[in-house]
Amino acid sequence: MGSAASTNAATGSATDTNAGTGSVGGANAGINESNSAAAAMLRAVGLTKTFRVGGGLLRAERNVHAVTDVNLEFGAGRTIGIVGESGCGKSTLGRLLLRLLQPSAGRVEFDGVDLATLTPRDLRTARRNMQIVFQDPYASLNPRMRIGRIVGEGLEVHGVATGKELREQVLELMARVGLGADAYDRYPHEFSGGQRQRVGIARALALSPRFIVADEPVSALDVSIGAQILNLLMELQDERGLAYAFISHDLRVVEHVSHEVAVMYLGRIVEIAPAPEIYAGARHPYTRALLSAVPTVDGADRKQRVILGGDVPSPLDPPGGCAFHPRCPVAVARCRSEQPQLIDDAGHATACHLVADGPLPGSGSGPQVTRRDSPPT
Ligand code: SF4
Repeated sequence: MGSAASTNAATGSATDTNAGTGSVGGANAGINESNSAAAAMLRAVGLTKTFRVGGGLLRAERNVHAVTDVNLEFGAGRTIGIVGESGCGKSTLGRLLLRLLQPSAGRVEFDGVDLATLTPRDLRTARRNMQIVFQDPYASLNPRMRIGRIVGEGLEVHGVATGKELREQVLELMARVGLGADAYDRYPHEFSGGQRQRVGIARALALSPRFIVADEPVSALDVSIGAQILNLLMELQDERGLAYAFISHDLRVVEHVSHEVAVMYLGRIVEIAPAPEIYAGARHPYTRALLSAVPTVDGADRKQRVILGGDVPSPLDPPGGCAFHPRCPVAVARCRSEQPQLIDDAGHATACHLVADGPLPGSGSGPQVTRRDSPPT
């Protein structure tokens, strides 16, 4: 992995509280919880991350609950889109999945092995299977390194190839992502944003990973270039059976690439379902509000626009009960005191008291949208 594998916690200078693995499971079981562990390549079980912030002469230390009790399963050739507003914890979750951050509780299993039980050496080997594509294709590339070196760094570090063989493998990777051989000796600043993102993808592919966290991979690109990058990611998935955690705030992009969609709010998954179900019949009021704000190609509204008041509350001081209740247009008294559990209903899980009592009005009457065809085999 490149040098830019920073742990980009939303909390800035926060200190992480690595309590190691803790209690697992929990109520917010994801949609695939019923699948056997053997079927999943990567599993997150009760994944939780709390940062300690503040502390000093006049201020007591406080906890930031960045990610709470997340359960997900990633299978080969599948993409789970992880969406939510800025600060919802999705990037922190991505780094937890890769074990770039240590969880405060819960665990990440790869091929059934808890990554926390591995020695540093074995973890390093395991990480060859898990890579990341960053949002900012410029900031994530070392400006002083030539493209060939950037792409081949992982191969070299892990002793996979050297000399002529290394160069050949790097050129092959570059060709696969659409970069010409002339790029080998050039520097990142000589390329456009889209080309730099291709470099980032080639670097991520170098060690033949099976799982990739794509953290807002196209949000810094214009639409047409972003579409090319998305198509490239999907082609690579079909070719190599890659599993993606696709993190984005853009629901249109997520719709295009995802097989399942997990919606996060203040560190928790509040809805998770197959992508067609989310886009045609979202159940959680937050998901429905997000979808109502997505512009459509023909300008027609998906459904009546839901305006959410205010911003996402601070994870330093999350509201009691349902964390969404101060902004929820249909909140009832119970929402202020009782936290809803993520309840699975035939593969569509939602954390909302009202949904648990019966479908909200309008559920299932979502827009007809273009979405990805059936998953690759
Ligand atoms: Fe809204 Fe209450 Fe459902 Fe939370 S539990 S989303 S506040 S209705």
